[in-house]
Amino acid sequence: MNEIPYEIIRSNRKTLALTIDSEARLIVRAPMQLGEDVIRDFIKKKSRWISDKQRYVRDFASKQSEFLLEDGENVLYLGKSYTVLRKDVQEVSTVGSFLIVPKNMTLEGYADWMKIQCDNIIRERVAHFANLMDAKYSSVKMSNAKRRWGSCGARNTLNFAWRLVMCPQWVIDYVVVHELSHITYKDHSARFWARVATFMPNYREARDWLRLNRRIMEVI
Ligand SMILES: [Zn+2]
Repeated sequence: MNEIPYEIIRSNRKTLALTIDSEARLIVRAPMQLGEDVIRDFIKKKSRWISDKQRYVRDFASKQSEFLLEDGENVLYLGKSYTVLRKDVQEVSTVGSFLIVPKNMTLEGYADWMKIQCDNIIRERVAHFANLMDAKYSSVKMSNAKRRWGSCGARNTLNFAWRLVMCPQWVIDYVVVHELSHITYKDHSARFWARVATFMPNYREARDWLRLNRRIMEVI
């Protein structure tokens, strides 16, 4: 059997973990001292899971052609896939599994609409979690970023990519909790992740979702 190529990231963790990134590469997270033979055995045992995930990521990538906001195209909104339907209407709306889009709306116009929706949702979630976490932020802005979902500046200015509006609500919540946790810890230390976990126990799933779906940032 051919060996599956992988990238290894060693750290102070105690267990082995496998992930498939958005380029369908296998990433192995391993304790500092763990031998390569143990790692290879583990990969062999998980080979079915690995090939399934890699196939999923590659299939998804090949389906991503240029998005034009035309009838019949699929678009993600809050983690749900909608089919674009152009109609003689003034406003964007959702009806069942359809995203109704005004006939004359451009892709830029739709991006503006997404930005407004994202801004409303994020502000509400930031206020909600900041209250729970007793976190004092100075501002909230939407960013055009295609490489990062959020950031927290030295003066606790929060930035969120408006493309987050394509993600499920619980994933958006994770990004909000992540950035609000940076108000307390400006790093990605164990203390930082412990704080994230306190308010978002399933944060690892959200990170996986973002990693697997990173390509959605490129669609619009
Ligand atoms: Zn961070």
